[in-house]
Amino acid sequence: MTATFLHADKPVSPDEEIDGRTPNCEACGATMWLTNRTRRSTDDGTRDIRSYTCKNCGAAKDVVERI
Ligand SMILES: [Zn+2]
Repeated sequence: MTATFLHADKPVSPDEEIDGRTPNCEACGATMWLTNRTRRSTDDGTRDIRSYTCKNCGAAKDVVERI
């Protein structure tokens, strides 16, 4: 008798999903911190704009994503 527990649904944490999209600093490789998040509507759809800052060296980066 073998149960199929291996196929049980595995819950995915929403936090993990967010962390998975956090960029690393291009200058020093440290994980960047989300400092600002805005949404902008354009004729072509909505853009999700996230601003990241590196706490290690101060570099900044904007990530624009189409949603
Ligand atoms: Zn850095």
